[in-house]
Amino acid sequence: MTSIALRVLLTNYCPESCRHCSFSRVHSDNSEELDPLLLAKCVELISNDHANKITVVLTGGEPTAAKNFIPVMNQLNDSRISKLMLATNGIALYRQKDLFKSVKKFCPDTISLSMETTKEDHDLLRGGAGASGNHQLVSELLKKVKDEMAETETSINSVVFAENLQKVTGFLHGFRQNRLLWKHLDFVRLMRFRRETPSINAAGISEITDDQWTEFQQLIKNDESLKDFNGRYKVYFLDKSHEKRLAIAISPPNKLTISNSNLDQQFVDQFIEVARDCFDVIVEND
Ligand code: SF4
Repeated sequence: MTSIALRVLLTNYCPESCRHCSFSRVHSDNSEELDPLLLAKCVELISNDHANKITVVLTGGEPTAAKNFIPVMNQLNDSRISKLMLATNGIALYRQKDLFKSVKKFCPDTISLSMETTKEDHDLLRGGAGASGNHQLVSELLKKVKDEMAETETSINSVVFAENLQKVTGFLHGFRQNRLLWKHLDFVRLMRFRRETPSINAAGISEITDDQWTEFQQLIKNDESLKDFNGRYKVYFLDKSHEKRLAIAISPPNKLTISNSNLDQQFVDQFIEVARDCFDVIVEND
């Protein structure tokens, strides 16, 4: 029986102002948060067929900023899921000792942090001068996570756009050359910047072409030095097909999106029938 990936958008609130992001500048007074009971219901429904085969990706907005973040971590800790990935910009996790302590207690399988190719690109994409301080912060957080949560995998999410395309290889080699950081980093995920993302202000940032993306992927995949000690590449590429592979996503207030690509049709039909009682269900066919 196949496993299911469940993407949980816990809140659409984020205090940061990244220019490429639709959640940028969603402030607390106009934000929405997912009801933990709906998450519990969704996990329960999937567990009927896929108990202990669910990978939850907890994201946002900024999930650590959600009022229910800790209760939800607690809830997932007690539920029948097999893996938990926390995707965060890392800022609160680094700055708030109590928050770090709580996350440490739950020991997610993966913590995925946002970091751009250079401090300047971090500024460009993530809200102007000052954001670059967070570039350094993520490096330090990587070490802290590995030092204190040895079982947790770490990953970096980084955005590729025309203005930084030539710098990505150097960025990856920078990690490679810094043996300590390379040791602290399990994998890097590169995302292609898309202008169709409902963006507030992405001035100065441009998309790369399909050909550039393909050529770039080949270049990275042929670079033997970007493998881990077991010979596996540490670099992955995220695009629309990856989003589809996530299979089921829930977001506030009660939206449930299902991508049929990797799911058994009988399971999907039964799941939708029951899920319609509490969710607005959207089915996306490939
Ligand atoms: S990309 Fe992440 S950190 Fe930036 S505004 Fe969006 S949710 Fe917040």
